[in-house]
Amino acid sequence: MEVSFPTDSDGFLAQECPSCGLRFKIAFGQGSEEPVSHCPYCGYRGSDCWYTGEQADYIQSLVVNTTLIPELKKFQRQTQLSSNGPLRLEIKSDSSLPVEPPMETDDAFMKVLHFPCCNETIKVEQHEKHFCIICGTEIDMNSNEAKKVFLSHKGVDKEMVRDFKQTLELIGYEPWLDEDAMVAGTSLERGILQGMKDSCGAVFFLTPSFRDEGYLKSEVDYAVREQRKKGDRFAIIALQFVDANGQEGTIPELIDNLVWKKPKTQLEALREVIRALPVKSGTVDWRGSIAGIVTSPSIKSISTELSDEAKALLKEATNGNGKLYIHKVLSGSALLANNKVMCSLDSADNRAKARWMGGLEDLKRRRFIQGNSQKGAFEITREGYEAAESLD
Ligand SMILES: [Zn+2]
Ligand SMILES: [Zn+2]
Repeated sequence: MEVSFPTDSDGFLAQECPSCGLRFKIAFGQGSEEPVSHCPYCGYRGSDCWYTGEQADYIQSLVVNTTLIPELKKFQRQTQLSSNGPLRLEIKSDSSLPVEPPMETDDAFMKVLHFPCCNETIKVEQHEKHFCIICGTEIDMNSNEAKKVFLSHKGVDKEMVRDFKQTLELIGYEPWLDEDAMVAGTSLERGILQGMKDSCGAVFFLTPSFRDEGYLKSEVDYAVREQRKKGDRFAIIALQFVDANGQEGTIPELIDNLVWKKPKTQLEALREVIRALPVKSGTVDWRGSIAGIVTSPSIKSISTELSDEAKALLKEATNGNGKLYIHKVLSGSALLANNKVMCSLDSADNRAKARWMGGLEDLKRRRFIQGNSQKGAFEITREGYEAAESLD
């Protein structure tokens, strides 16, 4: 017996974990030839246990209708032929069983993830960690998202570093420069620490004006610590520049035993940076404005509109201090954006509460907000600010 299910518009089919009950989607006819063996959310190990309830019902009805009922009917005919046998049989089909395979819907909240370890592509609702559905490798999604490039420099070199920043941005990287990236009021140390955490590499511009002093030292310190933690997912790139008089930048002590480059030109320096980073920029494709061409887009989930509550939260927070949080006090709890109560979680009715919390979840899933160290507190991300700009 052959069972077939329709897929969603990207060719994915829903599966459900018997342990955590969460759904994910797998792509058929591509990727690994091994069977699904792990839940991408909880890592649960199993085989042939991933059908959703609807799929299982449909398979059951297929078995009943194509195998069981014809057999029983045959049996019934035979027993009736032997006239006064003791056995009476009445056969009714169970009309509650589905006759059509379940439709696969496009899920706006799911993100397409590719596991290079097993060349497997899935759709999931993004969580803090995921497991490869084939080999079970655990991926920490927070450090997985850390793809920025930290640019460390001395104030006087700002112009040159800005040049690098703009060029890196143009070719698709996300450079991190202290003065742009830090919201007013953030302490320098904390801002730098966060910048390093969000990055996959730190570039030190060691011009003759760079001295091993003050916060530069702590930046080197943080970078070395980050590399120890992330291994080959973090690169320290030290570029030692020589000025017209042959003066060299000093190499900070901590980098001293690491490899550094002495580029002769700024273009050479840029090449060194691109070569050393553990992330690569996108593939070359035509601009949309060129006529008479086709492009090769990567799979992307069809995203739907944000809910009104999600929009309101995003708007309020981006216009204010960029913060959302669930505030718990003795008198009860509330959902706040920019210190303004958006929904009182004690007095509001359940439906309103669900809508507001759903809005918060939606922003989290799209990574428009990110939890910070405080529990129940969220900060607007760069993507969040971009999304807010496109709201009317
Ligand atoms: Zn699971
Ligand atoms: Zn794998």
